[in-house]
Amino acid sequence: MADNLIEETVVLIKPDGIKRGLVGEIISRFEKVGLKLIACKLVVVPEELAIKHYGYDQAWFENVGRKVLKFYQEHGKDPGEELGTKEPKEIGKLVQQWNVNYLTEGPVLAMIWQGPHAVAIGRKIVGPTYPQSAPPGTIRGDFAVDSPFTSNSEKRSVRNLIHASGTVEEAKLERQLWFKEDEIYSW
Ligand code: ADP
Ligand code: MG
Repeated sequence: MADNLIEETVVLIKPDGIKRGLVGEIISRFEKVGLKLIACKLVVVPEELAIKHYGYDQAWFENVGRKVLKFYQEHGKDPGEELGTKEPKEIGKLVQQWNVNYLTEGPVLAMIWQGPHAVAIGRKIVGPTYPQSAPPGTIRGDFAVDSPFTSNSEKRSVRNLIHASGTVEEAKLERQLWFKEDEIYSW
């Protein structure tokens, strides 16, 4: 297959996934779909790394903020009341702070999976951001129940067990952020 069709995606089993004993189950799903594991390590995440992971892109704040506002709109909730702002970028920054707390509360298993359409396939296996509405058959849909309903009022991230790169661009940035070249194997 042409090299340019082969992608890499960065997958993190978040602290709740490790604590719940879901490492084997999660890895198994990536193996079974046919992606190839080329890097894997347990990381106690320094705060700076967590900040960089969610903070490299101003557009990210805006995107997450918009997603949150959409959720509030769909559920007839007032974001101003609960979050203190209706500004997407400000909401995104709030979520980033919660995400930093989440990623640093225990070890994370960081991996790179490689294969055709690895980014899109990874997202398909993981499922949408909010487990409450993630379909069965996805990792988030099968093993978690959280939603912004419960998380936002408790001022914490939605606990959804796992991260997978959202785009090829994001995957490239995350590859550099989480791994040294000599921790990535070609086989
Ligand atoms: P994904 O992890 O599906 O790529 P995003 O990149 O949009 O989702 O958001 C990153 C993480 O931020 C999510 O996985 C989730 O843990 C957290 N998060 C997103 N939206 C919210 C929200 N409304 N409230 C709390 N946490 C959120
Ligand atoms: Mg994302």
